[in-house]
Amino acid sequence: MAKIFSGVQPTSIPTLGNYLGAMRNFATLQEGNECIYCIVDEHAITVPQDPKEVQANIHKLAALYLAMGIDPKQSILFIQSEVPCHAQLGWIMQCVSYMGELERMTQFKDKSTGKQAIPAGLLTYPPLMAADILLYQTNLVPVGADQKQHLELTRDLAERFNNKYGEVFTIPEPYIPPVGARIMSLAEPTKKMSKSDANRKATIFTLDSEKDIIKKIKSATTDDEASIRYDRENKPGISNLLDIFSLCSGRSVDELVAAYQGKGYGEFKTDVAEAVVGILKPIQEKFNNLIESSELDEVLDEGAEKAYAIAKRTLTNAEKALGIGRNN
Ligand code: ATP
Ligand code: MG
Repeated sequence: MAKIFSGVQPTSIPTLGNYLGAMRNFATLQEGNECIYCIVDEHAITVPQDPKEVQANIHKLAALYLAMGIDPKQSILFIQSEVPCHAQLGWIMQCVSYMGELERMTQFKDKSTGKQAIPAGLLTYPPLMAADILLYQTNLVPVGADQKQHLELTRDLAERFNNKYGEVFTIPEPYIPPVGARIMSLAEPTKKMSKSDANRKATIFTLDSEKDIIKKIKSATTDDEASIRYDRENKPGISNLLDIFSLCSGRSVDELVAAYQGKGYGEFKTDVAEAVVGILKPIQEKFNNLIESSELDEVLDEGAEKAYAIAKRTLTNAEKALGIGRNN
């Protein structure tokens, strides 16, 4: 039995990329493992947010976690800011981190480029993420490919701490799916699809209407070769749609390429959209039943209580190891 931890930011509505790269695996990993899933709202505020929107997004994300198959009887679901140990261990992990290694993180570079005033939290995001994971003695972290670098840093920080102060943390491994770990933007298919992309047409949100999904896929950037084949380098748009189609239909990319020999991009895109709608519709139906129910608050209250009990033990051990407070 492995201990699993992962989180999603309430920066907007989860995208098809978040679902195919990470959230879909959250549900399947529940079988035979101890899973803890988090709404990482403290991470969300590393870039400016409208408070009302964050609040609404937190509720929607909670409902989506359940709609995507998280079973609160099996797994813990909670909000990061409701378990103060995250911020507390986050500070400790900042003290273990070096400026140089934080400045080298791709996400920091991507999200800070072109900004006049860069929030310090954007730089110290990875030590907080390390704390999230390490508090639960996590073995496996299901994430998309973009988080691999942060996971490597988490491992480095945990090893650095353990070597210096004694064995407090389990060293986690990433769990990155072989396909779907990097779903690309529909508008610029050399860039990853992101929840917070300003161009809403570049992203399929898991709560998009059927009409919007069709419209977005129809206008996805492709190429003028008019042949459907998998070539990430030269045909990033078509290759991305093939990955999405394959993951949403259960048919292999090779099978799809063979089936669409000699067919036009128009027909292909119509069928990709149909497969995406087929995957998202049942999730949206469950979401609609959950969003107004009182079940959400009960699940989140219970989740925070259970998460706190585990997290507090690790935090106390880390503080003891460092000699801070009166734990010793
Ligand atoms: P933001 O733009 O606000 O950072 P995001 O789309 O990157 O949003 P996160 O909440 O940061 O979403 O990430 C949630 C999970 O989804 C992480 O495990 C991340 O690796 C994964 N993920 C994010 N984007 C993609 C993508 N394009 N393809 C596959 N997985 C992804
Ligand atoms: Mg992200």
